[in-house]
Amino acid sequence: MPAKIIDGKVIAADLRARVADEVGRVKRDHGLTPGLAVVLVGNDPASEVYVRNKAKQTEAAGMASFEHKLPADTPQKDLLALIAKLNADPAVHGILVQLPLPKGLDTQTVINAIDPAKDVDGLHPINAGRLANGLPALTPCTPLGCIILAKTVHASLQGMNAVIIGRSNLVGRPLVQLLLNENATVTIAHSRTRDLADICKRADLVLAAVGQPEMVKGNWIKPGATVIDVGINRIPGADGKNKLVGDVAYQEVLGVAGAITPVPGGVGQMTVACLLVNTLRAASAIKGLKPPSV
Ligand code: NDP
Repeated sequence: MPAKIIDGKVIAADLRARVADEVGRVKRDHGLTPGLAVVLVGNDPASEVYVRNKAKQTEAAGMASFEHKLPADTPQKDLLALIAKLNADPAVHGILVQLPLPKGLDTQTVINAIDPAKDVDGLHPINAGRLANGLPALTPCTPLGCIILAKTVHASLQGMNAVIIGRSNLVGRPLVQLLLNENATVTIAHSRTRDLADICKRADLVLAAVGQPEMVKGNWIKPGATVIDVGINRIPGADGKNKLVGDVAYQEVLGVAGAITPVPGGVGQMTVACLLVNTLRAASAIKGLKPPSV
């Protein structure tokens, strides 16, 4: 039997609707309009699409959206000055600097400048450290989305053998912590891992965040396992146009896995929805309200 396809589009739409309900409630009960500021430096076409999409979805959820577009040759001190202004702005509860930044800007310095209370990308070392210590933290959006998707298949991830491929600060490392919080048993693999196929074969849950098109093959997967594909890769399609594929050989794995996320239409859909969740959580915490129910 082919795997169940985990429909990120439907699950993300449901999450966005729940965020919009909660936003309506905090506006009504507390006069709070959560606000998200997105900063785009340069004119990378993919980043422009992401930023437009984030602004659209933020407004659709009833939140305030502030867009700041700066030229690619913006000096670092000007970017840091904008971040300082947003840190001090009471209408802004979330700050997201779209990555990657153009050459000449130091990503870590820029991330470190964001107020951790407004760090809705969850990349500030304070948030990463809090997450690693099992404390409440703003958590990177893509890993949050992965957990939500996995939990649509398994009510509990407790005791499951989870294998993450990739150890970036954006995806792999925070996923380890989130899966530990769910009481999964976690293995994290990377480019120096030996016998990766065998390690994957033992997993009940495989999460691939590698950036290598269709690397995870059907014979790496235990029959019935759940596969979450974070990868977004552009490769030439049969019609000569570029097509999007994940890090998982989807057609092969479909015949073996119990459940799988498609690319597109899987994890990617969840990332912006979780950004809205984080903005609502940040706004509630800054205002001293109890955490929202989403
Ligand atoms: P990075 O390039 O930062 O990290 C990739 C990780 O994969 C590294 O830890 C690297 O190991 C590991 N790796 C690379 N090659 C291999 C290999 N052959 N075998 C095993 N491990 C390997 O990528 P990101 O984490 O930022 O992103 C990963 C993928 O997810 C990309 O395709 C990206 O486009 C996508 N992505 C999707 C998002 C979404 O919303 N759906 C959001 C963010 C990312 P090492 O550390 O040893 O170098």
